[in-house]
Amino acid sequence: MNLPQHAPMDWPVVDDCLMLGGILLTTLARRVGRTPFYAYDRARIDVRIDLLRRYFPGAVKLHYAIKANPMPALVCHMAGRVDGLDVASGGELTTALDAGMTPQNVSFAGPGKSAAELARAVAAGILVNVESSREIGILERISHDAGAPARVAIRVNPTFELKSSGMKMGGGPKPFGVDAELVPELLQNIRSRGLAFEGFHIFSGSQNLQATAICEAQVKAVELALSLAQSAPAPVRVLNIGGGLGIPYFPGDEPLDLAAIGENLYVLSERLASELPQAALVVELGRYLVGEAGIYVCRVIERKTSRGEVFLVTDGGLHHHLAASGNFGQVIRKNYPALIGNRVAGGRRELASVVGPLCTPLDVLVERMELAQAQEGDLVVVLQSGAYGLTASPGAFLSHPPALETLV
Ligand SMILES: *Cc1c(COP(=O)(O)O)cnc(C)c1O
Repeated sequence: MNLPQHAPMDWPVVDDCLMLGGILLTTLARRVGRTPFYAYDRARIDVRIDLLRRYFPGAVKLHYAIKANPMPALVCHMAGRVDGLDVASGGELTTALDAGMTPQNVSFAGPGKSAAELARAVAAGILVNVESSREIGILERISHDAGAPARVAIRVNPTFELKSSGMKMGGGPKPFGVDAELVPELLQNIRSRGLAFEGFHIFSGSQNLQATAICEAQVKAVELALSLAQSAPAPVRVLNIGGGLGIPYFPGDEPLDLAAIGENLYVLSERLASELPQAALVVELGRYLVGEAGIYVCRVIERKTSRGEVFLVTDGGLHHHLAASGNFGQVIRKNYPALIGNRVAGGRRELASVVGPLCTPLDVLVERMELAQAQEGDLVVVLQSGAYGLTASPGAFLSHPPALETLV
């Protein structure tokens, strides 16, 4: 029987040691100073951006959703390369502005924005993707006090779902956005309250590997926007159709067919050019831009055998990398791709599990995977770790030191 395999990961290996950013992992570990750490490869991010620009029409604006990886140095790197940054909190707003992104090209989505966050957004001159009539009311007061209208787009909770998505963020009852059927009334409100209407934001889901499902959702998003635009108080200048582009994590996952998505975007952007000529089509991506450019590195503290099974007990675990442990939205636990970074092929190979130092059975990074036979002191590497890693993990659990981060 052929078991499903991880998609091939094209990391360079020299002398059986993984290389990142042209540096041997063993050297990088000394340079960082201690384990565990995340390392992100800026050249791989650039390759990803180039790929997207090659497949997507030039008119499509590429935004980076900071929540995927808010490391300030990485966001600075992004700021010089993408067309905009999307933030989902006041903290991320600070990161985006500090990174030097033009406020015109920063947008702010997320449920439950506080009055303080909204006031900062208006003062900064960024676009607010409003998610409720409450936010409209607050923005009206803030705009009045500031003497300048808030720039707003409406985040729409569409009537459709993004099929076969890892996480659904639209369709049905959702805390995100304004239900599509209530949007026309809200648009009237925006006109009477003196806010600067700029467009729509329709984001339906995350981590999708099926191009057909993504294309279908993008077509529906554009159609929904065209119909809502008829009630708009001003020309639509921004249509953000979200992202949702997934990356292969688990055995059997196949990389996304980016060409198919690009072709669909050509059709959509032409349609938009004729029906809403002032509207810029925006795609906002987190995971797809950074997920494959990052690794998580921890060190084997102890090699342990229990009733015939090998456990590599490391200094890293779910407190740094919840997603690899299978506890971040997975239904059935599956292994991220992993290897022993300083002996990739290794001499002998064995079936082993990699666990962390936390006193809970949930603290598993790798469960029964074929790895090079590892010794104490070796470096375990979890691939596909550039997105939803450190900041999406419960760092305080068990009071171990935080993981470090480096951008190479
Ligand atoms: C999280 C988020 C994204 C990024 O999603 P990815 O799956 O990482 O690409 C984009 N837009 C919004 C509004 C989000 O909340």
